[in-house]
Amino acid sequence: MRNPDFTLSAGPTFASARTLAALGSPIMYHYDPAFLATFHRLEGKVKQILRTEGDVILMQGEAVLGLEAAARSLARPGMGVLNLVSGVFGKGMGFWLRSTGADVHEIEVAYNDSVDPAVVAEYLDAHPDIQLVAVVHCETPSGTLNDVARIGPIARDHGCLTLVDCVASVGGTPFEADAWQLDICVLGPQKCLAGPAGMSLMSVSERAWTAIRDNPQAPRSSFLSMLDYKEQWLAHGRFPFTPSVSDVFGVEAACDQLLEEGLDASIMRHERAARICRTGIKAMGLQLWACREAIASPTVTAIALPDGLTDVEVRRHARERYGVMLSGSQGAGNLIRIGHMGPSTRSLYPIVGLLALGRTCADLGVPVQIGVGIEAAMDALASEQPVGA
Ligand SMILES: *Cc1c(COP(=O)(O)O)cnc(C)c1O
Repeated sequence: MRNPDFTLSAGPTFASARTLAALGSPIMYHYDPAFLATFHRLEGKVKQILRTEGDVILMQGEAVLGLEAAARSLARPGMGVLNLVSGVFGKGMGFWLRSTGADVHEIEVAYNDSVDPAVVAEYLDAHPDIQLVAVVHCETPSGTLNDVARIGPIARDHGCLTLVDCVASVGGTPFEADAWQLDICVLGPQKCLAGPAGMSLMSVSERAWTAIRDNPQAPRSSFLSMLDYKEQWLAHGRFPFTPSVSDVFGVEAACDQLLEEGLDASIMRHERAARICRTGIKAMGLQLWACREAIASPTVTAIALPDGLTDVEVRRHARERYGVMLSGSQGAGNLIRIGHMGPSTRSLYPIVGLLALGRTCADLGVPVQIGVGIEAAMDALASEQPVGA
């Protein structure tokens, strides 16, 4: 099949020419002074993006590696852990946590909702044995946000560590590792940063390192080992194994673009695209998946599919007929998703997503008010200040 004309997925997103050029830079020896300087610079940039002054480690492997590494490093047999589940990624975190032998409690809500921080506080009051809280910031498959700004300080007040999946939120919505008192945060470059998918960018607090060192089960001498990065790379400048040199170059270019634009401008750009898209969705007569618009993530819009349509056929039709790649539901429910991540937030991209989805629904026999939706979305777009024009 030919390549897509428009990628409006919820990650990986399409990388800029600058990132692609960086990915194509000559590969060098990983202990070459020029590469070592690049690696250190990238750590500094990731600190700025995650808003932390603590340690940052750049693990080699898509963000699932960093998430599993963090779960296995922190959780241990018998430890009380509270896992917050508002979607597919929260659910998946529970399987890793349980496999360590931890005593895993879950607060689970419907996958179109988010976890109420007040409920977390009550739960922790009632269960003083809990030592770790795991939460997903942007539940990408359902297009919703959990209020990590409030959950972080609640966990810390109860003496708990936090493990935060911020893979698909950072760069598209405010995120503050230190100010929100978060212990381990895992970011993926392939979402709002529009970088390559091959790395886990992680912040780690001193508290988290202490807990990991005290955990006899924490991975050591393993691809999953955070301690190897701490004890070999951070302490002695020795890589646990050879990093993917090309990915490091590509991720640095993606971070540069974000930092040159500015985090605030990038966040505004994502919020603006989401507003335009949602205005159009509602005006077309389609429904947002999120039970309240206030919890919808600016980085992706999930749309409830009308009865009789499935994400598989909608996605296939939009791609085959119109060359537009949308995201399916990943099992979160009967929904389809338009990503607003990185470059797909710019210009008319949200409108392209609306056109592809609206016309696909019509082609498949579900009437929608495409013209009304596009008109409303264009009005919304015209009334917004362009960001970073
Ligand atoms: C993309 C993403 C990940 C990485 O998971 P993949 O399934 O490998 O893409 C993890 N967590 C969240 C919330 C994500 O959006």
